[in-house]
Amino acid sequence: MARRYLEATALHQTIQAAEVKDGRILAKVSATVLEEALAGKEFHSASRHGKRLFLKLHDSLWLTLHLGLTGSLIYQESEAEEPRHTRLLVWFENGHRLAFDDPRIFGEVGLAKSPAAFLVERKIGPDALLQDQEGFLTIMSGRNGLIKPALLNQNLIAGLGNLYADEALFQAGICPKTRGLTIEQLIALYSSIQEVLKTALSTDADLSKLPDSYLLPHRHPGDTCPRDGALLRHEKIVGRTSYFCPEHQKKE
Ligand SMILES: [Zn+2]
Repeated sequence: MARRYLEATALHQTIQAAEVKDGRILAKVSATVLEEALAGKEFHSASRHGKRLFLKLHDSLWLTLHLGLTGSLIYQESEAEEPRHTRLLVWFENGHRLAFDDPRIFGEVGLAKSPAAFLVERKIGPDALLQDQEGFLTIMSGRNGLIKPALLNQNLIAGLGNLYADEALFQAGICPKTRGLTIEQLIALYSSIQEVLKTALSTDADLSKLPDSYLLPHRHPGDTCPRDGALLRHEKIVGRTSYFCPEHQKKE
């Protein structure tokens, strides 16, 4: 609900300034750094993961919000009366502002490089990273677009980055350019995503600690598939470099 509220109000507005009213709301960031990170930018998109909200400032910078038990977001005209327990204010050039009101300060505000990096850093488990299998199938079945960009769409799945999307497709034996996956393929893909994210957590997202049977240790030009020895292919798919094996990830 908070995500939809933000989408309907605070997205795509130039931020004039941000003001931290109470530093106790901040997680691992100073008021100055946070205020400077927001000034002059805009929120491009919002995604939710559990009770966390992520607002995209640019490709590698996101504002993270946790509303806690008592927090709420209020978008209002700048002249309106400020909510009583305002901890953060974001002023927009359109004469409105967003207030983060939190009487008990159970909430939290911070910055992250990406939702995925944040979730891995906080050791938020793969079950939380992703909806359950049924939810995944509901969202993914009947889609006609390419599978790779769908996996990167933060509105569909939170937290799966480009590298781990390639890895999951590799393990499930699915070409990133496949359209209209079968239910069997989606089930296989779902369990590879779980597997990949669990492994990422257990290695603290350190790619050098991944098993040699994974794609990622081999993800550079000229390297070969650890399964079948085929020369790995790499190409841009909707703007993102994708690596895959032409042998066991054939397009059907
Ligand atoms: Zn292969």
